[in-house]
Amino acid sequence: CPAGGRSGRIHFGREGGRETPLNRYDFPARSPPPGKTDAEMTEKNRPVRTRFAPSPTGEFHVGGLRTALFTWLTARHAGGRFVLRIEDTDRTRFDPGALGALTSGLRWLGLDWDEGPEVGGPHGPYLQSERLPLYQEQIRTLLDSGSAYRCFCTAERLAELRRLQEQRQQAPGYDRHCRGLRPEAAVERAAAGEAWVARLKVPLQGTTVFHDLVRGEISYENAGLQDLVLMKSDGFPTYHFANVVDDHFMEISHVTRASEWIPSTPSHILIYQAFGWEPPVFAHLPVILDPSGKGKMSKRKKGGGGPEMPVYVREFREAGYLPEAVLNYLALLGWSDGTDQTEFTREELIAKFDLTRVNPTGAAFDYQKLDWLNGVWIRKMEPAAFARLLGEWLGREGIEAGEATLAAVGPLVQERVRGMKDALPLVDFFFREPAPYGGADLVPPQLDAASTLRVLERLSGRLAEVERPTAADAEGAIRGIAADLGAKVQPIAHVARVALGGRPVGPPLFETIEVLGPDVTLRRLGEARRRLEAVP
Ligand code: GLU
Repeated sequence: CPAGGRSGRIHFGREGGRETPLNRYDFPARSPPPGKTDAEMTEKNRPVRTRFAPSPTGEFHVGGLRTALFTWLTARHAGGRFVLRIEDTDRTRFDPGALGALTSGLRWLGLDWDEGPEVGGPHGPYLQSERLPLYQEQIRTLLDSGSAYRCFCTAERLAELRRLQEQRQQAPGYDRHCRGLRPEAAVERAAAGEAWVARLKVPLQGTTVFHDLVRGEISYENAGLQDLVLMKSDGFPTYHFANVVDDHFMEISHVTRASEWIPSTPSHILIYQAFGWEPPVFAHLPVILDPSGKGKMSKRKKGGGGPEMPVYVREFREAGYLPEAVLNYLALLGWSDGTDQTEFTREELIAKFDLTRVNPTGAAFDYQKLDWLNGVWIRKMEPAAFARLLGEWLGREGIEAGEATLAAVGPLVQERVRGMKDALPLVDFFFREPAPYGGADLVPPQLDAASTLRVLERLSGRLAEVERPTAADAEGAIRGIAADLGAKVQPIAHVARVALGGRPVGPPLFETIEVLGPDVTLRRLGEARRRLEAVP
């Protein structure tokens, strides 16, 4: 048993692991011994090399990004290497746009890879579809040693087998029909052109055990495992075979992946054993649940009603989340450092992250917490950087924003927003005419139209007395008008806000007047008067 790790035990009997919800097992968290790193925790004391091995089948889901983050942090924490490998052997599900989505998503979060597509490396190529000769060579080794066998069963036979199993209410699975073929006879049939797949010859007795850094010891009775297909008849490897061969040749020390792969892991271990290779350390990460905590967080649900929440990395990006906030939030999705700390910088995460502190229990995706963290990270930004970002977002809306105005407007909203999308309706009126409003919108519940008109006249009058009203001048004017009319400041501020920005809510009013400047302010106050007078 490797040092560190969990002390839990999960055993799967003959029926395999299909029915057991693994996230129910809640093991106590245990830290690595003081002064030990993940590097020292690998059983074999190998250098730490981790890999993110996505299949390019479509949009990049935020769950995949969480896997990538934990994998990257494991490498960076130990001073090891992080490899990006693209598992594209399933040509039916291949999506040509997916690779770009993966690489740009990883880059957005700053998850740089030491080896992989675009950067190369000593173990390349890093696209499995470019490694086919390696898999072909390796399958010959297993066929020659008798650890794998050629299976000639046709699709029709397998379908008929499945039908019978269903009818008899038996567990589905291959009946090992070709396992007993003499190897020479199998070679002859293959040479004669008969189509075949290669299957793993799983031991019929015994138990396969592995230690999972997150979940403790997991064991499967071999009798419950399938004679897995390793190579398909088209000469392409299956996920299982290519994955193990590559993890071995890429010298991967830690396999960190979604918990849905747990039931495949005993077969992977048997493949390692068939080759006589040492398996890596496994860490199966907790499932990400939807916000209700009831089901697995899904891909985009169409027509579900209500506002659609982002689930793909691209959508989080487009919704205006900061990469710092997403990094921070995803790190907490299944991991904690054992304290109450919730705000982590990239450097702190690298220093503190440890797979043995990952909680095996499913973690619900909490959009409110993410929004809150996004606000935290917006407030941490340098004002100049925030102003630049605001400018970019305005630019996307086709609003051109001058640098000086942006620098003045940024601080008025930086403290108040949770996302860049919130900021736009608060600031757009600094750069273009306010959203259209009706004269009646100017009138707050506490005033009537006549006194609202008086407020507008007096405010114009008072502000016109100074050449460039400052926030203090604006405050003096508004408080003075409130006193004169025997009203509170709030209804007076309502009138001014609608007149200047088209809405009763906005950034701090006195500063707004200063930043808008006398020309725009007086013009908009005059326009408001005309609108109010036009109300019948
Ligand atoms: N290609 C697999 C996936 O996308 C990788 C699983 C693994 O990391 O072994 O889930």
